[in-house]
Amino acid sequence: MAVNARRRGAQRHRVVQAEAGAGGRNLFDMAVEQFHAAADRMGLDDNLRRILGVCQHQYTVNFPVQMDDGSIQVFEGHRVQHNVARGPAKGGIRFHQDVTLDEVKALAMWMTWKCAVVGIPFGGAKGGVTVDPRGLSRGELENLTRRFTAEISPLIGPYKDIPAPDVNTNPQVMAWIMDTYSMREGHSVLGVVTGKPLTVGGSEGRGEATGRGVVYAAIAAAKARGLDLTGAQVVVQGFGNVGSVAAKLSRKAGATVVGISDVTGGYYNPRGLDMAAVLDYARANGSLGGYPDADRVTNAELLTLPCDILIPAALEGQLTGANAGQVQARLIVEGANGPTTPEADAIFAERGIFVVPDILANAGGVTVSYFEWVQALQAFSWTEREINARLRNIMDQAFAATYRTAEEHGVSMRTGALICAIGRVADAVTVRGIYP
Ligand code: GLU
Repeated sequence: MAVNARRRGAQRHRVVQAEAGAGGRNLFDMAVEQFHAAADRMGLDDNLRRILGVCQHQYTVNFPVQMDDGSIQVFEGHRVQHNVARGPAKGGIRFHQDVTLDEVKALAMWMTWKCAVVGIPFGGAKGGVTVDPRGLSRGELENLTRRFTAEISPLIGPYKDIPAPDVNTNPQVMAWIMDTYSMREGHSVLGVVTGKPLTVGGSEGRGEATGRGVVYAAIAAAKARGLDLTGAQVVVQGFGNVGSVAAKLSRKAGATVVGISDVTGGYYNPRGLDMAAVLDYARANGSLGGYPDADRVTNAELLTLPCDILIPAALEGQLTGANAGQVQARLIVEGANGPTTPEADAIFAERGIFVVPDILANAGGVTVSYFEWVQALQAFSWTEREINARLRNIMDQAFAATYRTAEEHGVSMRTGALICAIGRVADAVTVRGIYP
């Protein structure tokens, strides 16, 4: 009884957290609302709305993992494929205590649009396990990863569904996924997952690709809005693989990074943070906690600091109806997936704040994942210079097409990007026809 009550309490806590994470909204409802807003604008027919407004496959697993103390814990995980009309399903796997099925469904739908907006031949998927990986030893993390991979292996494969890193997963986790899948197949299958270490079929440039793409999007947006990136003040929320690279490369592009944050809080220096020192500090200490050359601010304060460009690169639901009115940035470039609620979008539109939406701004990661997959299938590799040049090309073209579409329809960049993406997916569904 006591255990059950505790478990129910924990579940309730998770639900509250997940909804609070989307500014009090269910994240999948939010993704569907964005879809319908664009579908209305483009006059999408009802049959296509019915097909694209839902996820094709959603698979939930509960699986045991032996912990270091000998106990057995059971974890819940999901793999969701939203739509595969344009190619195999593609999308990351996250390990986070707030993962829910509805969150994974929203993220899978966004992956479909993201792949379409940059024109790479994938559908959308996402996976997640409800776990705080900070509480696991390396061995427990490996066991959890391998067992989850085995559980979802009927769904994944190089021509079916290709996972990648997302929140709290990294190249090592991808190597375990590749190895587990390969052991079951009886040979090495390099194309089953992307974001792998270089030694086992990873791609040059994949580690930095998402943050690099965010900075390419910021450069394009600044240019379109008549803002000079040199000397522009930038605030980055989140210091994981996306935020840390976005901050580093923004500085390299001439901007001044005045605010950063991670799980330990926010750090503000109006004269500009020394990014080389910050990166060294984070590497040496494992987090930004205690970083000396900055004022401490809360996460809420960080988002409303004076700056020109705000890059939310942490989790979803950060910019909401409650704080959008206080945001001081002129440009928002979404490194995270789903950081802005529809209520905040409406406020930003009214205030003339230009938002580069997640499905465009953070598409650099999956774009270089596509390069990695192509290289794996061909057993061939490109140089980092080639990868970055191709990435730049794709990001610039996708930005220009989205900007044009947004202008033509008189809508936000989010709706413009969705119109481009939904149109491509709808065309693929239509030309393929309905089986049988
Ligand atoms: N998880 C990343 C995203 O949200 C990368 C996905 C991928 O490379 O497949 O875009």
